[in-house]
Amino acid sequence: SSILEIRNLRKVYTDGTSALQGIDLQVQQGEFIAVIGPSGAGKSTLLRCINRLVQPSEGTVMFNGMDTTKASGGQIRKLRREVGMIFQSFNLIERVTVLRNVLHGRLGYMSSFSGALGLFSKRDIEEAMHILHRLGLHDQMYKRADELSGGQQQRVGIARALSQQPLLILADEPIASLDPVTSESIMKHLHTVCREDGITCLVNLHQVDVAKKFATRIIGIHKGSVVFDGPPEQLTDEA
Ligand code: ADP
Ligand code: ADP
Repeated sequence: SSILEIRNLRKVYTDGTSALQGIDLQVQQGEFIAVIGPSGAGKSTLLRCINRLVQPSEGTVMFNGMDTTKASGGQIRKLRREVGMIFQSFNLIERVTVLRNVLHGRLGYMSSFSGALGLFSKRDIEEAMHILHRLGLHDQMYKRADELSGGQQQRVGIARALSQQPLLILADEPIASLDPVTSESIMKHLHTVCREDGITCLVNLHQVDVAKKFATRIIGIHKGSVVFDGPPEQLTDEA
């Protein structure tokens, strides 16, 4: 069944930039989709419209039965709990431990930063530790996030998103600041955990080779419009 259905999505920023010019997309649960296109094509705006970091100018975004373009404050908070985000610059809380970063994913960013771990339930802590094990980060749990390498930090980013038990993960250029070997490892981790947990994933990439290797479907965006939508093997060089 469709988890995401986007119709005629348009975004014109306040400075007049037309970033999305009528996007139509249907996404089935469990798809692992790479969104590709040159810088400025509108990939980031598309992801940001889905979780309402950006307010669309026109169109509908049905997510799990809700039109998110009309969501109120409370519905937007619910939406953001159901949609995990992964960022190019990781966006971790740098001065707290890896474990605590993951706990904040699970409990929301409103929970206290400074209190002892005792504020979290035993079950929450065990679940966070389990997720860190899955991402090979069990030895890094008590390190500060900013002590880790870029690849390790992005694995924490994946762990934090997973800890929300999201229906959908949106990853905005998650490997753009990593070297090729680390990039591949991150994509492998992301792909594996999404498949294991049945999570739908949209990942923005500018590396076509990486997109072809991991995605089950590729969406090509150019100047705010979809110019390709199909399986990786149908993507030819001119697309
Ligand atoms: P909105 O139209 O959604 O209200 P704004 O124009 O207020 O968006 O911009 C939101 C943020 O994006 C601001 O911090 C602004 O500096 C930044 N921004 C503005 N122009 C660009 C751009 N061309 N590319 C990326 N970010 C931009
Ligand atoms: P991509 O992720 O493919 O690089 P973006 O969605 O970031 O593309 O940007 C699409 C277009 O919208 C670009 O022309 C960009 O400069 C512009 N843009 C992005 N964010 C803003 C903003 N907040 N305000 C104004 N223009 C923006």
